[in-house]
Amino acid sequence: MTSADSALDGAVAIRDVIIIGSGPAGLTAAIYTARARLAPLVIEGEPSSTSDQPGGQLMLTTDVENYPGFPDGVMGPELMMSFRAQAERFGAEFRTAKATKVDFSEQPFAVWIGDGCYLGRTVIVSTGAQSLLLGLPNEGRLIGHGVSTCATCDGFFFRGQEIAVVGGGDSALEEALFLTRFASKVYLVHRRDQLRASKIMQDRAFANDRIEFLWNRRVQEIRGDERLEGLTLEDTQTGEHSSLDVTGLFVAIGHRPNTELFADWLDRKPNGYLVTEPGTARTNIAGVFACGDVQDDYYRQAVTAAGSGCQAAIDAERWLEALGH
Ligand code: NAP
Repeated sequence: MTSADSALDGAVAIRDVIIIGSGPAGLTAAIYTARARLAPLVIEGEPSSTSDQPGGQLMLTTDVENYPGFPDGVMGPELMMSFRAQAERFGAEFRTAKATKVDFSEQPFAVWIGDGCYLGRTVIVSTGAQSLLLGLPNEGRLIGHGVSTCATCDGFFFRGQEIAVVGGGDSALEEALFLTRFASKVYLVHRRDQLRASKIMQDRAFANDRIEFLWNRRVQEIRGDERLEGLTLEDTQTGEHSSLDVTGLFVAIGHRPNTELFADWLDRKPNGYLVTEPGTARTNIAGVFACGDVQDDYYRQAVTAAGSGCQAAIDAERWLEALGH
């Protein structure tokens, strides 16, 4: 008897679609599958968590100016509440909890929330990714108020200002180069004296006179009450402290996809992101689909996540149809 069988003993209804995660991808999948009368259950995450909060990463941002349809911009949390309301309007059901275990060994698939188990003919995984943070006091509180993890999203707000980027990989250099379009100066703060980034990115960054490298420095303190007011840096060689008066801090030390829960079942790339069949949301298990940042280590935008959520919903719908449901 599998764990899913024992859950079935309790006469649990089998759902057509269970969606795990409620960022732009999961909620778009919910809108589409709800409108297709598949009554999706969305396991939306836990409000207390920074990695699994309902609404995903946009709940940690303020103004979103690049989501089409909002010429005056929209607040990230407001945008996500609108997505959610739209899904609810068509009958999507929500559980405000974190999925704690899955069993994809056979149909129906089982998804646990603590002791409770839900069964689904299809599962759409949209658990997203999280930007790694430095783990300093004030950092989380000032996200959206000077601290950011996304230059594409927030660079525009720093026109003519002096800002810092932390990290020494391709992401940090890409963000720094992009930010030179807006900022008057970009300090690249790196904890070593050698970059991890590819040579071509290094060459580009070294050639850009708006970027100044601060080698062997780590951010020791992020200062500010309402907004970021500056940084205290520590020299990793000498231990000396210095102040850096910047109005923006972009933390670009990597991302982590939220895929641990699926490690026993779904194929992952070496960097942990889920593998989907190109051009589809299909994973290696028929009936399990993935969309949004959990399978996208390249674009990572709300609008691309929403688009892939639509793909996952249509893939799930057609898969159910082919099975005669
Ligand atoms: P990454 O390559 O893992 O680099 C992370 C950087 O952050 C490293 O330089 C690391 O320092 C630093 N770092 C990590 N934790 C830190 C901490 N607590 N405090 C200070 N610094 C810290 O991550 P990534 O740059 O996001 O790139 C991830 C992958 O995506 C890479 O394979 C990369 O090539 C790829 N990527 C490619 C492109 C492109 O081709 N255009 C763009 C972005 C990303 P150390 O060097 O000292 O470890």
